[in-house]
Amino acid sequence: MGVPLRQQLAVGSYLIKQKLKGVKKYPLVLMLEPLFRCNLACAGCGKIDYPDDILDQRLSFEECMQAVDECDAPMVSIPGGEPLIHKEMPQIVAGIIERKKFVYLCTNALLLKKRIDDYTPSPYLTFSIHLDGMQERHDTSVCQEGVFDRAVEAIKLALEKGFRVNVNCTLFQGENSQEVADFLDYAMELGVEGVTIAPGFSYEHAPQQDVFIKGSDVKDLFRGIFRIGKKRNWKLNHSSLYLDFLAGNQSYDCTPWGNPTRNVFGWQKPCYLLADEGYVSSFQELLDTTPWEKYGTVNNPKCASCMAHCGYEATAVEDMLSHPLKALWTSIRGPKTEGAMVPVAAPEYAKEERASTTIAGIPVRVEIAD
Ligand code: SF4
Ligand code: SF4
Repeated sequence: MGVPLRQQLAVGSYLIKQKLKGVKKYPLVLMLEPLFRCNLACAGCGKIDYPDDILDQRLSFEECMQAVDECDAPMVSIPGGEPLIHKEMPQIVAGIIERKKFVYLCTNALLLKKRIDDYTPSPYLTFSIHLDGMQERHDTSVCQEGVFDRAVEAIKLALEKGFRVNVNCTLFQGENSQEVADFLDYAMELGVEGVTIAPGFSYEHAPQQDVFIKGSDVKDLFRGIFRIGKKRNWKLNHSSLYLDFLAGNQSYDCTPWGNPTRNVFGWQKPCYLLADEGYVSSFQELLDTTPWEKYGTVNNPKCASCMAHCGYEATAVEDMLSHPLKALWTSIRGPKTEGAMVPVAAPEYAKEERASTTIAGIPVRVEIAD
């Protein structure tokens, strides 16, 4: 775990308060997307496929603060688009820090060198820098040469200036365990606080659809990575149970309200990843009106391959609170990398489809004569 004690205690006390108050659905991380415009066009991005009039829209400072206050999650992640393009970003970050929320400012780092002096180091501020692997892998992933070098230069600069720095790594098709392990070693050598790592979600709006890792390949990949990791000292910014889930050892339903999303359209139903399910105008309305039961890997084909931390980290945290000894043991042992994986539940929507078709796929109409 790469998260400082101050943050662990603040988040821990927030979780205990929610439990004591008996709150069933509470947010853990607000995903605040104040713009979709980006200065890159990555193959697996599901956020930039909008017309210019949408890409030109911004959430104002006031709208961002209202979202932070309404939601009241202890952590705020600012993805995008590229947040450093937003002219009010330094003010937005300062406003979140003033509220004593931990803010993760996600960036591809291309503008960081130019804008870094607009920010002040703080225990509440982390630059979360997009890096999907070593040079060739990352530059391929972001579809532009030279981005890896600039991101590494920005990481070193931010660390020198005393900022908290995290690496945000998404894994795509064609990765192998050794390559990812070497990258994690490199990230540790750079001296970052930790690495956030997850398989890419197969966004319907991504420019390329063949880049996403499918089915059990994700779990095999993570088992391979963690097998190598047993002899390393990687700091991964995840709970032990989420990592165990990635390795195929936990059967979880997602907790989409754990990472609610506010962007230029409103509060996005049901989560950060699905963009076509509708929007509402307040966080409370999101909680009250989203048909949560329609989502999750067994309930919705759009969710079929999702293992993203914005859906499952909150589930793992909830499991940790319910089963602290299991969480402690998993944390000591590390994710299980051998033996059978937990069985995957059959999708409910597939059962419905099967029930309405014959083996030839022809709908059967049963008529009973009087
Ligand atoms: S993945 Fe991030 S850096 Fe790449 S285009 Fe999308 S928003 Fe920009
Ligand atoms: S599984 Fe959950 S987090 Fe993932 S896309 Fe579906 S609703 Fe969102």
